[in-house]
Amino acid sequence: MDNNDRKDNKKGFNIGRFMIVLIVALVLTYFGSTFLKSCIKNYTTSEITYTKFIQMVKNNEVKEVEYSSTRITIVPKEQKNDKMKISYYTGYIYDEETFKLLKDNPDIQVSAAVEENKSGVMDFILMYILPFILIWLLLGFLARKMSGSGGMLGVGKSNAKIYKEQKTGVTFADVAGQDEAKESVREIVDFLHNPAKYTEIGAKLPKGALLVGPPGTGKTLLAKAVAGEAGVPFFSLSGSDFVEMFVGVGASRVRDLFKQAQQSAPCIIFIDEIDAIGKSRDSRYGGNDEREQTLNQLLAEMDGFDSSKGVLIMAATNRPEVLDKALLRPGRFDRRIIVDKPDLKGRLETLRVHSKDVRMDDTVDLDAIALATAGAVGSDLANIINEAAINAVKCRRIAVNQEDLFESVEVVIAGKEKKDRILGEEEKRMVAYHEVGHALITCLMKHAEPVQKITIVPRTMGSLGYTMQVPEEEKFLQTKDELIARIVTLLGGRAAEEIVFNTATSGASNDIERATKIARTMVSQLGMSEEFGLMGLETVENQYLDGRSVLNCSDKTASRLDEEVNRMLKEYYEKAKSLLSENIMCLDRVAEYLIEKETITGKEFMEIVNQVKGTDENKEAEADND
Ligand code: ADP
Repeated sequence: MDNNDRKDNKKGFNIGRFMIVLIVALVLTYFGSTFLKSCIKNYTTSEITYTKFIQMVKNNEVKEVEYSSTRITIVPKEQKNDKMKISYYTGYIYDEETFKLLKDNPDIQVSAAVEENKSGVMDFILMYILPFILIWLLLGFLARKMSGSGGMLGVGKSNAKIYKEQKTGVTFADVAGQDEAKESVREIVDFLHNPAKYTEIGAKLPKGALLVGPPGTGKTLLAKAVAGEAGVPFFSLSGSDFVEMFVGVGASRVRDLFKQAQQSAPCIIFIDEIDAIGKSRDSRYGGNDEREQTLNQLLAEMDGFDSSKGVLIMAATNRPEVLDKALLRPGRFDRRIIVDKPDLKGRLETLRVHSKDVRMDDTVDLDAIALATAGAVGSDLANIINEAAINAVKCRRIAVNQEDLFESVEVVIAGKEKKDRILGEEEKRMVAYHEVGHALITCLMKHAEPVQKITIVPRTMGSLGYTMQVPEEEKFLQTKDELIARIVTLLGGRAAEEIVFNTATSGASNDIERATKIARTMVSQLGMSEEFGLMGLETVENQYLDGRSVLNCSDKTASRLDEEVNRMLKEYYEKAKSLLSENIMCLDRVAEYLIEKETITGKEFMEIVNQVKGTDENKEAEADND
């Protein structure tokens, strides 16, 4: 089907060219035939009357006369220019008197044209066929120039950035974690090393592998590692580099890329963000001629090249669901390799790989950092190590310590500290109570994650304060109780504002958004509500990007879903308020301490809480004794 599309395109173009040539040729022939003819015979010729002809003969002005069946051509004696002869013509009339007149004048050479069919054929070729062929060739040349390399207008020129690395220098050791993905690409490496081993048996090798995963998980790195391990050149290009304003340019770039790659086989072609060209051709995601042509060309090239030569295409995407089905069928990108966010072990390995060349002191405990960075991808972790090293240099230390690392975890999560933003006293109090509200709930609820740090120093990413929680261990499952604890913790900030200041601030917007999302997921996807039980109401659509979900229930059910979410949020908010009200002493004490210090550790926080609770318990015991 795809091939047919391509052929149709080609045919369409040729018919177009044919029509242009035909029209131009006809116009030229019409206007130019007389001119052309006279040029060929070296004559400029004009028509005169028969009377004028006789007059000229009588005046002895004529040198030659040539009769043909339809006309009489007259060459006058007087010629102004040697190169271009002047001649006249007039219609043929059978007139014996003129014949006599001519015969009587020996100066005039009279001849009759021999009319053969051949000259008619020559005339036809010269007048009609030759211009046609010339224009055809000219247009063909222009078309080739425009679509091929080195375009006349620079349009078809493959100026897309094809990066060719002869040796990537990356090996599997540089790719931390991702063991399953590495396992899947190992045989590709083996094939590139030794294609004969596979082809001898008759095994066909995969032409393409699609690396799927969230941004920054190391897809590009893995593709480079495959090239590095196999010791073959690496061509890389981004999907968006193909697509331009002009229809057909992308297709020519694809051709160019494959041509270049085949010359350097064995090699790897890596197309990043392939969804830019590989989007499904149905109208759901919006059609685009240029993109579709580029995709068709890519499909055709993938079918056309011989994989036994060792050209392997790897592509990366984080939106596999939008890709065209034709791209994923066997014989094209039939291998799908998932490169997902790293787990605790993966994160630890990634931190190790990136800290290999960074000087670190004894305080550094990468396990703790790995634990604190759940959800971070490889590029975040690389960034964390680098930020920590920069911070150490700024503080004029010679090695990175654990504090630097934690600081940079925060920088990556919440942005840099904004020391120049001075909060007013009242605002500072509000932020402090808000943060302590979150923190206090974590220690009052059984299933919440422990607090690592509380700060009211504003950060560049918009937050005025920040409570950092670190889980005790990596978790893959979350229980209902843990999710509820999470929502109550998130709502704790607003609850504290209401209890202490009897007002609400804009600082809780992000908390509210996140709490609503969790509650909604619990109802619509996790079957954790009484109202809907195990009914699934939403499905996640793009799992590797923002995890956006789409409803698959009726509007009526959707409004009931909203009501249920609202009811849950109200219930958990009340819970947060009652927990904080019962522990208002703790709230006050920690908040005061935080206002004074601006940043406190989880340990300091727990000490104050335990102290207050201890005195509370003593008082209660005393009261009981009384
Ligand atoms: P993607 O192509 O998935 O968006 P990249 O491969 O471009 O991500 O990764 C960006 C950077 O993140 C890499 O250059 C590397 O420094 C780091 N990185 C990502 N994943 C890993 C990993 N598994 N091991 C080591 N470094 C990684």
